[in-house]
Amino acid sequence: MNKTKLAETILKNLNTAILVREAPGQYSVHGEVPPFYNHSFPPDADTGAPCAAPWRHSSMLEFFFQMAEEFFAGGEEGMISSGTWEEENICEIDQALVAEAMSFPGAQIIIVRLLTDAYVDRMTLLQAVRSELLQRRILHNDLEEYKLKSTIDGLTGVLNRTTFMEKLEERLQGADETEPPCTLIMIDIDHFKNINDTYGHQSGDLVLNDLGRILLENVRRGKDIVARYGGEEFIVMVQTRNRKAVLGIAEKLRVAVSGHSFGSLPRVTASLGCTVHVPGENLENAIRRADEALYAAKSSGRDTVRAQWPETAAEASAAVNELKTVGT
Ligand code: GH3
Ligand code: MG
Ligand code: MG
Repeated sequence: MNKTKLAETILKNLNTAILVREAPGQYSVHGEVPPFYNHSFPPDADTGAPCAAPWRHSSMLEFFFQMAEEFFAGGEEGMISSGTWEEENICEIDQALVAEAMSFPGAQIIIVRLLTDAYVDRMTLLQAVRSELLQRRILHNDLEEYKLKSTIDGLTGVLNRTTFMEKLEERLQGADETEPPCTLIMIDIDHFKNINDTYGHQSGDLVLNDLGRILLENVRRGKDIVARYGGEEFIVMVQTRNRKAVLGIAEKLRVAVSGHSFGSLPRVTASLGCTVHVPGENLENAIRRADEALYAAKSSGRDTVRAQWPETAAEASAAVNELKTVGT
């Protein structure tokens, strides 16, 4: 068997038909064609020669044929592929066609191949892997979005209580005497129940929403933490050693709330309670102290700031002096 005949036999067994381009839009079939080809694309009725224009029998092939003609007219060497497709009345189950146009010196050809089961299996597997990866990416993105949503309080846009506690614990872990103690400010709206009762729950929600924004606007982004601690109670963590500064920040927050215009509602005020967390101290303990300070602010007429510092003798006296200076 000579080499050309051998090559033709191999191509036939690989279910590959070759069409050589003689002139634009004009092709001749090369060698013997595989059975699928004659079965799918009827041979010439008069001569019995294999079909030289299979695109007349397949719309996918017709589309590719137009692309191939443009590719050949461009005069560049190389190859373009149709990608695989299944053709009704041509492909049986688990089979697919592929067409390729190749241009190299001295020849321009189009091949049409029926892909084997094994090839199709591989493609199916690849597609399954691809879709699995895509699915995983979608799940991953959903999870990230869900995580973000689950850290934020939906009504006010500040962190929720659980996330606040987690973040604070994270920051406090490993903190020692050399690190600045973190300061807690508890904020509670004054007579909030009246707002709900008089103007409706929706107006109450708007106040909460505004308050979240006021707090966020008045602390250092990325450094301090603002969270909704419960119903109409918020908590702010400020990282500072200086108690006077803490009282100053709390006062600034108080003024920002009382000076804010909550739409058509009358003036809204809040009471604030401050404390510092001592390194090594139980976090709940520090929060309880801030809550006591808040209670003190309520008792002394609301719309005010009170502090309750840790109880060690030295710290207590320092705190008293600072409080005197600030005059709260
Ligand atoms: P005080 O000055 O002592 O803090 O009085 P107050 O009325 O603010 O305090 P109280 O604890 O009696 O009332 C808090 C109210 O907050 C009761 C509750 O219905 C309301 N509340 C809690 N969560 C929400 C919420 O998400 N939306 C609205 N609109 N109201 C809420
Ligand atoms: Mg309350
Ligand atoms: Mg209240």
